[in-house]
Amino acid sequence: MVVENLAAVEQKITEACRRSGRNRDEVTLIAVSKTKPVGMIEEAYAAGARDFGENKPQEIRDKQPQLAEDIRWHMIGHLQRNKIKYIIDKVCMIHSLDSIRLAQAIDEAAGKLGIVMPVLVEVNVAGEESKGGITPEETEQFVREVSVFPHIHVEGLMTIAPFTDDPEENRQYFRKLSKLCVDIKQKNIDNVSMCSLSMGMTGDYEIAIEEGATMVRVGTGIFGERNYPRTEADGRVEE
Ligand SMILES: *Cc1c(COP(=O)(O)O)cnc(C)c1O
Repeated sequence: MVVENLAAVEQKITEACRRSGRNRDEVTLIAVSKTKPVGMIEEAYAAGARDFGENKPQEIRDKQPQLAEDIRWHMIGHLQRNKIKYIIDKVCMIHSLDSIRLAQAIDEAAGKLGIVMPVLVEVNVAGEESKGGITPEETEQFVREVSVFPHIHVEGLMTIAPFTDDPEENRQYFRKLSKLCVDIKQKNIDNVSMCSLSMGMTGDYEIAIEEGATMVRVGTGIFGERNYPRTEADGRVEE
C-alpha cells in the first residue's frame, strides 16, 4: 500500500509542478512517518523515499539507528530544549524553530558537535491559538536575532496551515508565507538564506506547491491514517 500511495503522491506533485511552471526537483517530498513502524519506512525507502519527517524527538532517536544511513531525517514538530540531544546528530533540518531560547539551545548543542544546523522558522500565518510558531509581523526581527548564532543557519520558513475540508481556503496562508519569505530574503541578512518553504500536508500539498512550497510534508497520504487525534499528532503538547 505504501508503494502505491507514494507513487500517487509523486504523480500529484509532478502535476502540481507542471501546472505552476516549476521543475519537479524544486520540491522535496518529506514522508511523515510519525507513529508508523520501521517496516513501513523501509517500504517507502525501497520505493525511493529518502526524506522522512517525525514530530517527536524520541521517535527519531529510536528509529534512525534501525534504518539506512542515507535517510535524511527532518524534525518537523514542536521541539523542547531538553530533547535536542536526542536529534542534534541525526537530523538534516529542524523545521520548527519558534523561540530564541530554543535557538540558543540548538546553537549550543550544534556547537559542541562542530556542526551548523539548518533551521526553518515556524510561522503561525493563520493566527490559530492552538498552534505554535511566531507571528508574521515578528518574523523578520526574529530571523535577525537568530542569524547571529554561529551554529544555526536559517534557510527559510515553515507553517502548519489550518485543518480544513476545503484546501483552497489555505491558499491565502501559503501565499502569505511565500511573500514573507521573499520580503525577508530581500533584506540580505548575513547568515540567512531564504527561501526554503516547508508548507503543505496531505490535504493541501498541491496548493502549497502552486504557491511556492519547496518542501511538502505528507503523512496520511503515504502511510494511511494514524490512530490518534490530530491535535496530539501535531505534537502540540506544550512544555
Ligand atoms: C503530522 C504532520 C504532518 C503530516 O500530516 P498529514 O496530514 O498526515 O499529511 C505534516 N507536518 C507536521 C508538522 C505534522 O505534525
